[in-house]
Amino acid sequence: MSSASPIAATTVPGGMICLRCDAAWPVETYAAGCPRCASEGHASNLKLTYTSEGRGLRLPEALALGEGGTPCVELPALAQTMKLGRLTAKLEWCNPTGSHKDRMSARLIARARSCNAPLVVAASSGNGGLSIAAYAARAGLPTEIAITAALAPSYRRAMAAHGSRLVEAPDSLARWEHLARRVAEGAFAATNYRLPAIGTDPFGIEGYKTLAAELAGPEQPDVVIVPSSRGDLLSGLRLGFEEAGGVMPQLIAVEPFPRLARVMAGEDYRSRFDGRTAQVSIAGETVTFQALCALRATGGLAVPIDDNAARRAQARLAACGLHAELSAAATLAALDEIASDGRLAGRHVTLVLTGSGLRDPGAHDLAPWPHTDERLLAAAPPAMPGFLPPRTEASVQQRDNG
Ligand SMILES: [Zn+2]
Repeated sequence: MSSASPIAATTVPGGMICLRCDAAWPVETYAAGCPRCASEGHASNLKLTYTSEGRGLRLPEALALGEGGTPCVELPALAQTMKLGRLTAKLEWCNPTGSHKDRMSARLIARARSCNAPLVVAASSGNGGLSIAAYAARAGLPTEIAITAALAPSYRRAMAAHGSRLVEAPDSLARWEHLARRVAEGAFAATNYRLPAIGTDPFGIEGYKTLAAELAGPEQPDVVIVPSSRGDLLSGLRLGFEEAGGVMPQLIAVEPFPRLARVMAGEDYRSRFDGRTAQVSIAGETVTFQALCALRATGGLAVPIDDNAARRAQARLAACGLHAELSAAATLAALDEIASDGRLAGRHVTLVLTGSGLRDPGAHDLAPWPHTDERLLAAAPPAMPGFLPPRTEASVQQRDNG
């Protein structure tokens, strides 16, 4: 957690309020979200409220791994091309396990421990599960991560190294069914597992308020662009900016195919939305009320970005020195779309780069690359004269001997 964060050291929560119907509830774990909305066939997450002046959640130092306080870097050349006043990128891959999820995991695991949960369960496509595995290991809590066959071996090895048990389900929704069975046995769920989807436990959402706190202030962005699926990050940012008390920036949700965009156009948020994508961190066929609520509260919008557009954006960011995960790079593609009509001229925009490109599926495949082709090596132009020593057998021998 950032020491600069105004939402860091404070009090215990006094209650919970429904994001949809404003009903107040005592602090508990509500499997179906707001009980009143659930009884009416809706699914809505709750948010924490505080009785004293303090806000946010105190995180036991023993559970922290140094999450938050990530760099925010300027992208002046892109800003100029897009006629923005300023473009910045928040490098969330600088968190301890390499993604924004650490902000949430730290608080979820603290909550699970305070509930004396015998087991923490999560359904994950990568970043979230790895983060939960790490923080649970730190807290000495057993974990079980439900995955699918699509999860890369590098993730599996890392989760297992933290001591997590991996359960492979036939598909994404089967992971949620597995979690539901474990929760019925007393486990604490560190991810959504309900249909219609609700989002993650409100204690976890609190963690994303720290990201808003780091962006808030006199130089805060006018627009924040966020990769989104179930809207945990989106909702936490909205709640965090509300607590920070300044001007509310417009929040833009980026998604791999129209889901939230269709809901913003009038479709029921409880619908299922078909679509396939290589942007695995924001895949899935559901949206949540909390995501819709965050966009409405900030005058935001949802921008679908297909995989090819995300790949082009990934290359543009890489040319600036930032190799972002495909789903994170999609934020730049969304900005391109929104800025094309000039409405963001002179404005400050922040892209939240949630994970690194090294996390994309296939990033660690051992497939041959063109530059390993001997014919290409032979055809390569000679090195600049005087720049490299001549490649004699003796010099190669010396180098290989270290
Ligand atoms: Zn409600």
